[in-house]
Amino acid sequence: MFTVSLFSCTGCVNLHYNDYAHTKVLLFLYVLSLYLYFNVIFPGYGTPRSEAINLLANTSYTKVEDYIIAHSKYKLSNFNYCEACNFLKPERSHHCKTCNTCVLKMDHHCPWFAVCIGIKNHKRFILFLIFSLMFTITIWIDSFRHVYMGIKTTSQEGNTKVQFKICYLLFIASVFILTLLVFTGYSIHLVLKNTTTIESMNIQDKLEKKELLMEEGRHIDLGHIYDLGYYENWKQVMGHKWYQWVMFGENDNIKILSSTFNGFLFPVNDEILERQQDLLNRGLLV
Ligand SMILES: [Zn+2]
Ligand SMILES: [Zn+2]
Repeated sequence: MFTVSLFSCTGCVNLHYNDYAHTKVLLFLYVLSLYLYFNVIFPGYGTPRSEAINLLANTSYTKVEDYIIAHSKYKLSNFNYCEACNFLKPERSHHCKTCNTCVLKMDHHCPWFAVCIGIKNHKRFILFLIFSLMFTITIWIDSFRHVYMGIKTTSQEGNTKVQFKICYLLFIASVFILTLLVFTGYSIHLVLKNTTTIESMNIQDKLEKKELLMEEGRHIDLGHIYDLGYYENWKQVMGHKWYQWVMFGENDNIKILSSTFNGFLFPVNDEILERQQDLLNRGLLV
């Protein structure tokens, strides 16, 4: 609602000043952000049950477990199952109590969208944040310009030309920019590290343990097994070709999903995997 009111105010201001070019840019960014907002919600986040059908569609396998054994780098002896869903719970999946289902590569449950952010809508979520930030920055530039012109005219003519509503708009836009900068920056940081919000919390737990171990005089670098380097990590979420990074059609989503076996298996960093396995064997990691 805030965004809608921000847009309406700035749109009116621009029209008042006959600034149609800026209004068009705002309108474009607004419609795009709104479209992406619903694109995060409606195509869904991807559940093991729904994506299993897509995964096996063009294969000779009838069970996901057989497919995973055949393609996994791990030596699997047993699988995790979710009792609530009564279905397989692949690596990086979590059961969301609010959505009442398991979510593939669950990032977090987002109250602003009232859905989970998972394997299928992660890229759209990132794009939504980026375009919303651009939208807010455009509003800020517009309102700042009007306030600046108002101050300039006031000093020349003596009469106050600065409108309170535009000062208020500038203030609100500043708050939005700061908030969105933090959210967007943190979300992009996680994509570049190939870590979900849930995993980053688990890594934090492990790091606390690492500090304990360091206090005992042992230095341990844990790393994150899915971290393949910034560029590879970015491509895994946003697409393999640069022009795919701003696309969010279903075909692009399918291409991205295929690189992670629809969210059932993920490429791992062999070096980090070996290091963590060694720590596990030595009882230094839980
Ligand atoms: Zn579940
Ligand atoms: Zn959820």
